[in-house]
Amino acid sequence: MVKETEYYDRLGVSPEATADQLKSAYRKLALKYHPDKNPQGGEKFKQISQAYEVLSNTKKRKIYDEGGEEALQSGGAGGGFRNPMDIFNMFFGGGGEYEDEDEDGDSGFSFFGKGGGMGGSRKPPPMEHRLVVSLEQLMIGGRRKLKLDRRRPCGACDGRGGRVDAFTQTCNTCHGKGIKLTYQQLGPGLVEMHGTCTACGGSGRTIAEADKCKLCKGNRTVNDTKITQVHVERGMSNGTRITLKGEGDQDPGQEAGDVVIILQEKPHYTFVRRGIDLHMEMKVTLTESLCGFRRTVTTLDGRTLTVTKPEGKAVEPGCEMMVEAEGLPLCRNPYVRGDLFIKFTIEFPDTVDSDFISEFEAMFPRPPKTQELTGEEELVNMLPLEQPPGGGGEGGSENAYNDERMETDDQPPTGCRQS
Ligand SMILES: [Zn+2]
Ligand SMILES: [Zn+2]
Repeated sequence: MVKETEYYDRLGVSPEATADQLKSAYRKLALKYHPDKNPQGGEKFKQISQAYEVLSNTKKRKIYDEGGEEALQSGGAGGGFRNPMDIFNMFFGGGGEYEDEDEDGDSGFSFFGKGGGMGGSRKPPPMEHRLVVSLEQLMIGGRRKLKLDRRRPCGACDGRGGRVDAFTQTCNTCHGKGIKLTYQQLGPGLVEMHGTCTACGGSGRTIAEADKCKLCKGNRTVNDTKITQVHVERGMSNGTRITLKGEGDQDPGQEAGDVVIILQEKPHYTFVRRGIDLHMEMKVTLTESLCGFRRTVTTLDGRTLTVTKPEGKAVEPGCEMMVEAEGLPLCRNPYVRGDLFIKFTIEFPDTVDSDFISEFEAMFPRPPKTQELTGEEELVNMLPLEQPPGGGGEGGSENAYNDERMETDDQPPTGCRQS
């Protein structure tokens, strides 16, 4: 004699039912009350499932027969119930499609059990991060710390979104497909865009409010923060992409996406990079340009170079000279180095004392007059150009040279490369 008949009643069988009779009863009722077929039948579907779960297991059925539901709850069979969908999937052969046995016309349909969405592994698109690096870092190389914010399966519910026996329903937003279609106007037509359904997180099913996981609130994923390291190699450049495999977003039951780090080179105070060559400007005074000079340059790896121009050799404005192998290393081949190009600008004095003019003319004679004036010529005034904003220096001449940079860079060197 059994203590309770509740579970047998749910399945509409007698307490003496055989295993086959139980199966047959469950089969009929589960198909009838499956939430996809019968949106109001959810609670009933859950009860049928729980009853079948207990009665189809010899050990649990014995405990139930002897002590009723109370005996099951008190731990005799390990407490709680499984997800009704899992029971259903196992019964009907692992999800996918099932045939409708009732003659009510609507044929088989597919639904998605735990996780999977459309089934198969979908990998989230790579997450792109910009990483600002200095020229010094690209010269020396090294590791940079980076904080990654990403989506990961919830650890508290194993990515299910709720308790193991949570009651789930087909998502109203995507109708179980896990994918939301949106239409976007593109040119003359509409373009169909596929995106993960946000209402169900792509699983195609939503979880009853009370059964939702407390940590992820039924979303199945949580926001996760990871501090990781990026290896910036010597000679990498602006726009270099570094892939961190599997460090990106991940959805339950799927492969983790990648993170792509895109290097962004910070402008440098002294150097401009072109390929593996470095370019810089050096200002010298008029006296230095005529009489020679010695200057120092601090390299990107912190050394000090001395550049000299011997006495007796003048430097022309805009002239460019090269220091071999003081550029950046070639990426993955640091023994190949670019060169350092130094372009000279000359700081002219604003005024010249009249006392010096005759002495100066004696040293640097004016060219002979090649043309006699006829008296028909018009005398015009020359006006100084407006200084560009942030132009810096006091004299107009130095800015004029700075402005010429772009034009003069492509011209052949003005014949003052060191011989
Ligand atoms: Zn959905
Ligand atoms: Zn969770």
